[in-house]
Amino acid sequence: MMNAIMTNSNAAKQAMDLEDKYGAHNYHPLPVVLERGEGVYVWDVNGKQYFDFLSAYSAVNQGHCHPKIVKALVEQAQKLTLTSRAFYNDCLGEYEKFVTEYFGFDKVLPMNTGAEGVETALKLARKWAYEVKGVAENEAKIIVCKNNFHGRTITIVSASNDPDARANFGPFTPGIIAVEYNNSDALAEALKDKTIAGFLIEPIQGEAGVVVPDDGYLKKCYDLCKQHNVLFIADEIQSGLGRTGKRLACDHEGVHPDILILGKALSGGTYPVSAVLANDDIMLCIKPGQHGSTYGGNPMACKAGIAALSVLRDEQLSENSARLGTLLLKELKAIQAEFPEKVKHVRGKGLFCAMIITEQNGKSAWEVCVELMKNGLLAKPTHGDIIRFAPPLIINEAQLMECVSIIRKVLKDF
Ligand code: PLP
Repeated sequence: MMNAIMTNSNAAKQAMDLEDKYGAHNYHPLPVVLERGEGVYVWDVNGKQYFDFLSAYSAVNQGHCHPKIVKALVEQAQKLTLTSRAFYNDCLGEYEKFVTEYFGFDKVLPMNTGAEGVETALKLARKWAYEVKGVAENEAKIIVCKNNFHGRTITIVSASNDPDARANFGPFTPGIIAVEYNNSDALAEALKDKTIAGFLIEPIQGEAGVVVPDDGYLKKCYDLCKQHNVLFIADEIQSGLGRTGKRLACDHEGVHPDILILGKALSGGTYPVSAVLANDDIMLCIKPGQHGSTYGGNPMACKAGIAALSVLRDEQLSENSARLGTLLLKELKAIQAEFPEKVKHVRGKGLFCAMIITEQNGKSAWEVCVELMKNGLLAKPTHGDIIRFAPPLIINEAQLMECVSIIRKVLKDF
């Protein structure tokens, strides 16, 4: 369905019409057609400038078209793009050393998309359960959290309780148990089952609407997993890489996962790069021929990965996210106090925030996002009433305050 609201531009209309006619209708975008990005800004086909407050679901933490990441990618693209893993290449080892030392693991398994990273982690956990823990064949189970979002494959939607994600996609993968998020007692109960291989968790639930669990929850879950010889698997695809004000969201509680899954900002939004990190006792359960991907670990991905992680560290983006995230949340709380009848709740950690909108005359987060767009700020609603605010982590204070005034103005008029 084409969006009702359109810009006057023919170029924009044409682009939207093409997507509508020739593309699957598996997304419902805001009616804006982007053609350029730099830092915290994107421009549409009419030349209108916007603040990007979604950052491609936190893939563009380093800002659009970061010159160091683009340079690394372009240089490698002119030299060697893909070898497959049938042969060694001169970038993969360098990247593997870099990324494992960066996060403190023995080994990495490179993939492309986030969903592939999650699938890899689940396969690894099952293999470990049979070959190390000693679970009987085909009995291994994974515990997940309700309202999770880990991607779109059949096994991953089998772990979802979102009716849209699941309806008419069955039969589902067995061996998955869901417990309530932010409830360590529920996890403790589920862990009584001796066939559990791993506990898969988003340290902050992103797609659910930036749901931040209580302080201490992650550590409690990690300790429970250790007591029961169960792998603690952190999906930091959205919450990691500086987004919450630390290198990883798990770092807030000093938790070092058994399996860490990364994606999105691992290439700063330039290329699909994901990674699964674990120590040898887990990772070496997978032998040649048992898992892989044609593009996983390709030379361009390796160079993009090193550049993206270097930018995060060298530009102290976690620190900026922590500092400006505190400011953003404070300002959003002030806006909530000004318009309590329109803003139900605000929450967040670092530059990973959300505002829950109270419906006004049948209008909710979608209409607020359309107004934000008209005022030069792009954000996307989730679950009907939630707006996520997650700008690139390179944003500065003056830019952030400009965005706060846009949000305030739009809420005032809503
Ligand atoms: N895991 C989490 C926490 C995510 O937020 C996402 C995407 O939003 C994914 C996994 C899936 O990543 P991808 O869309 O790259 O497959």
